Amino acid sequence: MTFSRRDFVKNSVLGAVAAGVGAGATSNAHAENSAPGHASPGDAPKPTIICAHNGFAYVEGAYASLKSGADTLDVGIQVVKGPEDDPNDDSVGLGGLPNEEGVVELDACCMHGPTRRAGAVGAVRNIVNVSMVSKAVFQHTGHVMLVGEGAERFAVAVGFPRQNLLTDRSRKIWLLWKEFNSDRDWWGPGIADPSWHPPVEEPKPQAEVWRERIEHLRQRAADLGIEPDFQTAAVRRVLLPPTGTIHCSVLNEKAEMSGITTTSGLAFKLPGRVGDSPIIGAGCYTDQDVGSAGATGSGEENIKVAGAHTIVENMRHGMSPKDAGIDALKRIVRNYNGDMTRLRYMDMSYYVLRKDGAYAGVSLWEGYSAGHPHTFVVHDGTLRREVATPLLKGFSQEWPPFPTIPEELKKNSEYLK
Ligand code: ASP
Repeated sequence: MTFSRRDFVKNSVLGAVAAGVGAGATSNAHAENSAPGHASPGDAPKPTIICAHNGFAYVEGAYASLKSGADTLDVGIQVVKGPEDDPNDDSVGLGGLPNEEGVVELDACCMHGPTRRAGAVGAVRNIVNVSMVSKAVFQHTGHVMLVGEGAERFAVAVGFPRQNLLTDRSRKIWLLWKEFNSDRDWWGPGIADPSWHPPVEEPKPQAEVWRERIEHLRQRAADLGIEPDFQTAAVRRVLLPPTGTIHCSVLNEKAEMSGITTTSGLAFKLPGRVGDSPIIGAGCYTDQDVGSAGATGSGEENIKVAGAHTIVENMRHGMSPKDAGIDALKRIVRNYNGDMTRLRYMDMSYYVLRKDGAYAGVSLWEGYSAGHPHTFVVHDGTLRREVATPLLKGFSQEWPPFPTIPEELKKNSEYLK
């Protein structure tokens, strides 16, 4: 997964609001020009899947299922189950980076267009396929959302196995993070440790301080048994905590639609924190009379604009998928009165699919850093990645802000690749 979202701005962070400007090849001409309902009743829409970048490897197989008549929600689950089961995707499911106490907590929600049902689970521990559990909520209960221990017990009751979601690698990264952020508690090697030294008092140039910190972290990564090839990546995850999530929206030729979103949420979050991903209307919303939308990015910001629902409503009122998504992003900007000093510490991507097959990917910023634009995956007969249309020019930084790592160190692959 990409974990460079916290990369510091290289080019014009404080860009002006520039809707539709920039890395623009996004929505197809269909998306740009047609209004909802454009397709006449007899026209079958092109079966289409849209999802976040980390779904790429799973879309081809899911598209084959879609073509052979599988239910749209099951197709979406087929896509997102890939990253959920992948121990090396540390943003979703198994191997997801844990909360600040070292416990993996997962969030997911889904909407099934044909039957207008919805399900969601939040802060679930010990169950890997929370996407499927969110579907099970509407299949087996009269509720829409279950959280925490109740959600876990429900999952076990309907047949999902309990398993440890914390891989050894994610546990070690968490431990490294814990020790690094912990100079005023008892975590990390103590005074008796041969490598212990008293806090350095004399002021040093920033670059030197950082070089020492990074070296020290890499040494600790080695001591913790993190494999040599992954030590730099582990240090990077500690200094620049990653985020990640997957959303997938699906349309079939009967014009049925579904959407699903699943995540391990923010790395090192407070226990019990629930983001936007399991919130129907924020992380995902589907109304097959209109379209489907989903989100990845700063969950707290997306909840406040009910992003996915806002986008679907915008399309209901005639906006194209791209304009509908850009409008939701503008609402985030408005929540901060356009204050770029604050806005640069958040980011948001929306994946938008209309009932006639028109689609768009939009993002608040251009990407994580120069050369790494936000992308999304689409399959409507041809599998491809496309670059999302950004609202703002420039690149986001991660929250909470971190003391600036000198550019020379970040650029130097010896230090932080
Ligand atoms: N939206 C997710 C959350 O806030 C994180 C992400 O998409 O990166 O939990």
